Amino acid sequence: MKRLLGAHMPTKGGLHTAVINGHDIGCNCVQVFTSSPQQWGSKPITDEMAEAMAEAKRATKIDSLVSHDSYLVNLAASDPAVRKRSISTLIGEMHRCSRLGIGVVVSHMGSHLGDGEDVGLQRLAEGAREVLNEAPGDVVFAMETTAGQGTNLGYKFEHVAFVMEHCKAHASLACCMDTCHIFAAGYDLRTAEAYENTMKQFDKIIGFDKLRCIHLNDSQKEFGSRKDRHAHIGEGCIGETAFKLIVNDKRFSNIPMIIETPDAETMHKVNLDRLTSFIK
Ligand SMILES: [Zn+2]
Ligand SMILES: [Zn+2]
Repeated sequence: MKRLLGAHMPTKGGLHTAVINGHDIGCNCVQVFTSSPQQWGSKPITDEMAEAMAEAKRATKIDSLVSHDSYLVNLAASDPAVRKRSISTLIGEMHRCSRLGIGVVVSHMGSHLGDGEDVGLQRLAEGAREVLNEAPGDVVFAMETTAGQGTNLGYKFEHVAFVMEHCKAHASLACCMDTCHIFAAGYDLRTAEAYENTMKQFDKIIGFDKLRCIHLNDSQKEFGSRKDRHAHIGEGCIGETAFKLIVNDKRFSNIPMIIETPDAETMHKVNLDRLTSFIK
């Protein structure tokens, strides 16, 4: 069975090198940061960068690319300056991705920072609507399910559904499911029965038609811990069973599945080989 399996790749040496190096270790989809995730602002995409990326896509036949937004973005922030910057950064990121031929921007759902979930969700949903108003039509904005650390929103499928409803099911608004995050948030995946139950809930509340990316990470922290610590595939509290089920799940045959496990340089190939060995 053919799967879209890949990794979050380092971009040292240029964005296009992430695609080439990813291909070398067996990726057929790749996720990148298009600029430093710890800083506001980004260097503009030049014609050379866009052309190098297009050439890397041609050479590797990798067409499924994903960008992860900056860690500083918080659409649910109360501070108007942070909020404004978050919105413009996301709009900018979607336009950068449009130029680079990257079809999906994954974004964390933000934190209410003590103002409460209802208020936070309202601000988040309104922010997402503003982003979508100015986004290019060829890039999807995918909200990522979170572990619910601190005051992070997005640890309940209902949070994602709320934003989608507010944005009137905008065609460019989608979801990214992270296995480590949902497990830490209290959605079990450890047995076939638990896995199916969680997927049923996802489909009922968010909908598989909204799923555009899956992050495959095991969890260093226990079930329901609300802590976000990624572990190597099969070596954490989730265990191999869930990953065997997910890479063989026919419902996800066209969804990029991307590892964000630790030690990219030494362990990405090991984790990808492990996942590939699970495919029947
Ligand atoms: Zn993730
Ligand atoms: Zn995480």
